[in-house]
Amino acid sequence: MDPVGFHKHDHSKCIQECLTAADEQCSDKGVRLTPVRRRTLEILLQDHRALGAYDLLDKLREEGLGSQPPVIYRALDFLTEHGFAHKIERLNAFVACSHPGESHAPSFLFCRECSTVAEAAHGAFEAIAEDQAKAVGFVAERVMVEIEGLCPDCRG
Ligand SMILES: [Zn+2]
Ligand SMILES: [Zn+2]
Ligand SMILES: [Zn+2]
Repeated sequence: MDPVGFHKHDHSKCIQECLTAADEQCSDKGVRLTPVRRRTLEILLQDHRALGAYDLLDKLREEGLGSQPPVIYRALDFLTEHGFAHKIERLNAFVACSHPGESHAPSFLFCRECSTVAEAAHGAFEAIAEDQAKAVGFVAERVMVEIEGLCPDCRG
């Protein structure tokens, strides 16, 4: 699967597919994609950009969906737990998953200028990390690669 985010693509389809996948998976698992959770995911999907919890909370507040920090933290916990969104530690921000439904250790390329994020192809870095770990007798349990740089737009 290609990294999604930097190259041109049919983005309205991208949003729609991710929301549909989230709806389906929630009903399969018997968990609720409440209006706040769904709207948070939708905001994250708007443009493949990392957003902080407070940016998200500002939007929810404008729309009358909630104004207290626990509202957004609970929604983000839900979305990350179920793999619909990921946290980028370096940015302390969140991004919608580009491959919802596949279980994966996410790896990212993110732009330090505009915070656009592309999720790297599934498995792109795990094998390398596991080899490195094995070589020193280390057991890798979680591999998360965050590559910082400039996206094609900001580079220009
Ligand atoms: Zn898109
Ligand atoms: Zn993902
Ligand atoms: Zn950029």
